[in-house]
Amino acid sequence: MSGVLDGTVALVTGASSGIGAETARRLAREGAAVALVARRRERLDAVAAEIVEAGGRAVVVEGDVSERSSAEAAVKQAVESLGRLDILVNNAGVMLLGPAQQASLDDWERMLSINVNGVLAVTHAALPHLVRAAEDSARGVADVVTISSTAGRVARPGSSVYNLTKFGVNAFSEALRQELVPQRVRVGVIEPGTVDTELVTHNSAAVREATERQLATIEALQPSDIADAVAYMVTRPRRVAVNELLVRAAEQTW
Ligand code: NDP
Repeated sequence: MSGVLDGTVALVTGASSGIGAETARRLAREGAAVALVARRRERLDAVAAEIVEAGGRAVVVEGDVSERSSAEAAVKQAVESLGRLDILVNNAGVMLLGPAQQASLDDWERMLSINVNGVLAVTHAALPHLVRAAEDSARGVADVVTISSTAGRVARPGSSVYNLTKFGVNAFSEALRQELVPQRVRVGVIEPGTVDTELVTHNSAAVREATERQLATIEALQPSDIADAVAYMVTRPRRVAVNELLVRAAEQTW
């Protein structure tokens, strides 16, 4: 496969399903060699096999981004396998919903550890490689894209800690963006609306049913719609930095 991203290397966290898997396929189609990071090895192997079958290059890196050592090892392994790192897509995340009074503190901590600490650990480990890539690549830039959410813009009942994590990564990304302008590392967030993925399946039956009822009222986004947004951001010429994309399902009012 060949395209605008020829010669680049992308690392996608949460590449075993949903938005991350589709983003990995899409970036490979644009010419990037892709490192696929997540915990479910078999799912990663299947995505990597599809990419290779289609003529692309992919490596599987089993890792848990919520564990600092595992996140750091994943970045190291990706760079050792593919030689460099031009694009980081922080996509791994969980959404555990429900009223605060009934919530489990374990669930809240799990969201913080994956959606926030995971982003921090992977980004921190990736930055030196991204700065180097911006200096020595033909593109003359490197990219950090974090998958936030509409929940990073609008807080709602039942979503308090998920909101906290997504507002948090938006703030982190904006500060990082300003810091890294001189080094030509572009930093952006994508804020998807409702996407048809496995995200809601980790919730209680009551939350799953409520979400399914809401989903039945609209045509949800597909993971490829968000992969398109990622690809758009990272394939812009050097003079363009797309820092934020809010992508809702067309019928979504919330
Ligand atoms: P999925 O549940 O399909 O994907 C989540 C991915 O995150 C999986 O690949 C999972 O892999 C990975 N993941 C979870 N925990 C960890 C961990 N500790 N270490 C490494 N990887 C992990 O859901 P989506 O594709 O929908 O979610 C992707 C992102 O999009 C999330 O950040 C989510 O908040 C965001 N988002 C989703 C929306 C939606 O409506 N679906 C809307 C807005 C934002 P594994 O289990 O193999 O580790």
